[in-house]
Amino acid sequence: MWVLAVQRCLHYAARMPATLPAAFVEQVRSGFPADFLSTEPADLTEFGKDWTRVFSPAPAAIVFPRSTDEVSRLLKLCNTHDVKVVPSGGRTGLAAGAMAANGELVVSLKRMNRMDPVDLLGMTVRVQAGAVTEAVHKYTAEQGLTWPVDFASKGSSHVGGNISTNAGGVRVIRYGLTRQWVLGLQVVTAQGEVLELNGSLEKNNTGTDLRQLFIGSEGTLGIVTEATLKLTRLPGKADVFLFAVPDVPAVLRLFRDARKASFVINAYEFFTDKCLRRVEKHRGIHAPFTEPSGCYVLIEAEAAQRDALDTWLAHVFEDGLVTDGTLAQSSRQAEELWALREGISESLSSTGLPHKNDISLPVAALEAFCAELHTVFEARYQGWEICNFGHIGDGNLHINFMKPDTMEKAEFLARTKDADQEMFALVRKHRGSISAEHGIGLLKKPYLHFSRSEEERALQRAIKRVMDPKNILNPGKILD
Ligand SMILES: Cc1cc2nc3c(=O)[nH]c(=O)nc-3n(C[C@H](O)[C@H](O)[C@H](O)COP(=O)(O)OP(=O)(O)OC[C@H]3O[C@@H](n4cnc5c(N)ncnc54)[C@H](O)[C@@H]3O)c2cc1C
Repeated sequence: MWVLAVQRCLHYAARMPATLPAAFVEQVRSGFPADFLSTEPADLTEFGKDWTRVFSPAPAAIVFPRSTDEVSRLLKLCNTHDVKVVPSGGRTGLAAGAMAANGELVVSLKRMNRMDPVDLLGMTVRVQAGAVTEAVHKYTAEQGLTWPVDFASKGSSHVGGNISTNAGGVRVIRYGLTRQWVLGLQVVTAQGEVLELNGSLEKNNTGTDLRQLFIGSEGTLGIVTEATLKLTRLPGKADVFLFAVPDVPAVLRLFRDARKASFVINAYEFFTDKCLRRVEKHRGIHAPFTEPSGCYVLIEAEAAQRDALDTWLAHVFEDGLVTDGTLAQSSRQAEELWALREGISESLSSTGLPHKNDISLPVAALEAFCAELHTVFEARYQGWEICNFGHIGDGNLHINFMKPDTMEKAEFLARTKDADQEMFALVRKHRGSISAEHGIGLLKKPYLHFSRSEEERALQRAIKRVMDPKNILNPGKILD
């Protein structure tokens, strides 16, 4: 066993890319387990990238710590030897935050997936950063509780990645963002110090809340190693509806009405007919309507009294708020309706070349924004198919420009830069955000100024300089 371990160390050393300093390599070899570091080509490719597929992975090596102590000792070494580090979770990010394209050392948290016993009185659970989101859901469900951070990639994403991106998802309208569901954080700083921030306290007014600095900072200020998650009761039985409506103003009219109804909305999602056509083509599943419609709304609501629900349903039809609709009669039907919405992202990529954006606006500005965007595209991007969907109940739109079949890929990619500029100018005009929930990473960095002022960016840079003066943590992400 020991001989094997030594052989593996020598094997790593022999293949170690020149970009990692020899003294650093030597100390990793002597101070960590034999399977701590990999330079296997398959690992470099797999762990050097996220879902964005825009940049090519080129990490120097990948490390797989098992404990906070290992992360701490590693970062001390990295800081001493000026080794650049990319923290890596489930690699489902859509902003190239976990991309290692410049010979960095990737720190994968995947082995750190311990979940402590659920605190039933405090309704919390402490987990390591590499715990998979869905595994946390299953684990806490055994106690009738849940961590309400929920989206299509939950089977792969990690709690550490969710925290570092301040992830949103389909239940934000009811529960808010990840930020609201993290009580305490354990973070390792660029210098290798271990910070315990806020423990499991609900209330703690003792000055600046450092925990919040790390949430959403995409691994640029520290590596999250453990978190105390706030839990809530599992929602009760849910009703799932799918409605057909003609256009975005109708989507919003229905939203205003549904919010006043006597049920609790868990999710209010919308997609256009163009999205549906691509899901149908890719997955072979269909909406339960005979006639196509401009837009569709999926509502999941915690089950109301049956009478109240029937009254509301009769009202939306009688008052012309919807043109067609269905209420799932079983959990299987509910899953089928959800599949139409959750299959969109994958179907766009499988049936064409989408250029994806994830923006948010004040809900009150959505109608004007969509109308103005339509005008821009009619005037200057004729023939482009625009596939819109998203968590519209919280102002979040996923806007996808599809490459026209007749256009070369290079020309399309070049023109999307102009289209983005025009769209982000509208986002700024309506006081929205160029990244609602996916983050900035490498992908949206050139556009940050549309959402953050010069003064804000200067302050963000100053914070980074104080916390990571050698710029070893996820360099080049969010800001240069
Ligand atoms: C099909 C699909 C649907 C999606 N739907 C949604 C959605 O509805 N809402 C939403 O918000 N997102 C969505 N996403 C994006 C993505 O799943 C989230 O951003 C998720 O939170 C990323 O988690 P991850 O573990 O995969 O992080 P990664 O992609 O591995 O990393 C994301 C960022 O966090 C940093 N990071 C990772 N772990 C740590 C750590 N322990 N400490 C410090 N930094 C760390 C990385 O360096 C990187 O900057 C979707 C993605 C896909 C593929």
